Amino acid sequence: MAQLKYSNKINKIRSFALILIFGGILLMYVGLLFKQKEWVMIIFFILGLLAIFLSLIVYLWIGTLSLRAIPIICPSCEKPTKMLGRVDACMHCKQPLTLDQDLEGKEFDEKYNKRSYAKSKEQNT
Ligand SMILES: [Zn+2]
Repeated sequence: MAQLKYSNKINKIRSFALILIFGGILLMYVGLLFKQKEWVMIIFFILGLLAIFLSLIVYLWIGTLSLRAIPIICPSCEKPTKMLGRVDACMHCKQPLTLDQDLEGKEFDEKYNKRSYAKSKEQNT
């Protein structure tokens, strides 16, 4: 089987928020190096604050997403995981998971989460 480059959505968003926080701190740190040029420092500080602020929004967003996510026990590694949408991957072993019985055994594809797929499925039945 080909290496699955897909990972659990909640994990993916969470690491994105983490990168934003580190990016924001880094930007403010770089700003400190420009103490002589006040306007440069201020721009870096504002950008850093924006990145941190954005990551807070992303964290809040993860919170609401987690509430909507369906907790299941992964059939592969038997650990509890959460899945978003029609198809997702296990947080621990990256086993592709689906809630749709029609998709069972099919090759994993993110297109099954798109609205267009749900629509085409409706038309076929
Ligand atoms: Zn698993």
